[in-house]
Amino acid sequence: MRTRFAPSPTGLLHLGHAFSALTVWQVAADLGGTALLRIEDTDSTRCRAEYETAIYEDLGWLGLDWPAPVWRQSEHLADYAATLERLALRGLLYPCSCSRKQIAEAGATPGWDGLVYPGTCRQRPMSEARPGDALRLNLSAALEAAGPLPAFTETGPLHAGTHRPDPAALIAHVGDPVLRRKETGDPAYHLACPQDDAAQGITHVVRGADLWHATFLHVVIQTLMGWPVPTYHHHDLIRDEGGARLAKIAHSRAIRAYREDGLTPDDLRARVGF
Ligand code: GLU
Repeated sequence: MRTRFAPSPTGLLHLGHAFSALTVWQVAADLGGTALLRIEDTDSTRCRAEYETAIYEDLGWLGLDWPAPVWRQSEHLADYAATLERLALRGLLYPCSCSRKQIAEAGATPGWDGLVYPGTCRQRPMSEARPGDALRLNLSAALEAAGPLPAFTETGPLHAGTHRPDPAALIAHVGDPVLRRKETGDPAYHLACPQDDAAQGITHVVRGADLWHATFLHVVIQTLMGWPVPTYHHHDLIRDEGGARLAKIAHSRAIRAYREDGLTPDDLRARVGF
């Protein structure tokens, strides 16, 4: 059993991250497995070295440890580019130059996670890709190429059971995801995350319930690429000692702010219900 905690170094870790990390290590301990740390530093405009250093310090202070070397996504860019190349050769990608504003103005409808891309650029061939274009996955074509989708097992408290992604629901509520971001050309989360879960041999993905719907898309990508589908465990929002949901403001306060207030690691664990 192998799981991972995969923060993005775009800011200081807050109480919500502490809860998530403690859950990851708890699930690993319960199942006699290993928790890995993965640094999801693909967003070249927002990731900073000092936040990465702070992740190591804050998790270490909480009493968590992980095997070396840490997997840093910025060291695997050629692998994500190779996957994009394979998807392009299969005719499943297209270049997209739409801005957020253009997408909204084209009548995009709200989906599970933001607006569903209305398909404005879907007919553009890859041969016409311009520098700075995003690359999107043609979801209908990808679903067809993937064939029947497998069911996955969810062990988290909110959705425990088995779930099979429904192609029609994915088309209606997710749409064509960006796999390479516009302007920077950075690989997108929906590409790098499932790719690394496969590359690192992750058997259980433990993460926040905010990513529940992303899992349906990740299963499509895993099936399309022939990668294994791990077991999932989406945890609820953090609760305080009494079991009440922590207010958003407390949830987003930095771990080090509590450290500076003089809290011990045990105090902080208790604060998030551990
Ligand atoms: N970097 C993502 C985040 O911080 C990780 C999500 C995941 O665990 O898949 O939200």
